[in-house]
Amino acid sequence: MRRKFLKLFSLSIFSLLFLPYKYLYSATKKIINQNLTEEQKKILFHEGTEKPFTSILLHEKRSGFYHCANCEAKLFSSNAKYDSGTGWPSFSEALPGAFKTKIDYSFGMKRTEYHCAKCGAHHGHVFEDGPGENGKRFCNNGLCLIFKPSN
Ligand SMILES: [Zn+2]
Repeated sequence: MRRKFLKLFSLSIFSLLFLPYKYLYSATKKIINQNLTEEQKKILFHEGTEKPFTSILLHEKRSGFYHCANCEAKLFSSNAKYDSGTGWPSFSEALPGAFKTKIDYSFGMKRTEYHCAKCGAHHGHVFEDGPGENGKRFCNNGLCLIFKPSN
């Protein structure tokens, strides 16, 4: 009886410690665009990655802005886009305040994951081998972006 109580007690302490964090973290991510495909949801809300060299945005050369596919926040200017050869749309810088970052330890690697500051949706990872002055390479899933040309 006592052992059972202890077991229950430790289980509830465990949930008390971890559930609010889990809840808070997931609560910051919200589906705003109801027309997202399953593939987009997998990437935006479950940190998925699209297959390289599949995005139509790789060949997008017009000037304009790249927006979040979920909440339409403006994230990148076409001025920052470049061909990194990796197979994912790449940018040397994001618009100020567009993203928040966190360290991602999945797949045995330490990488910096970034997500939309407005809706919390995952977009990609930022690396330190970019071509610009700040040396950043934002490696973004094309499916997470909507391109809006300037004219
Ligand atoms: Zn967003």
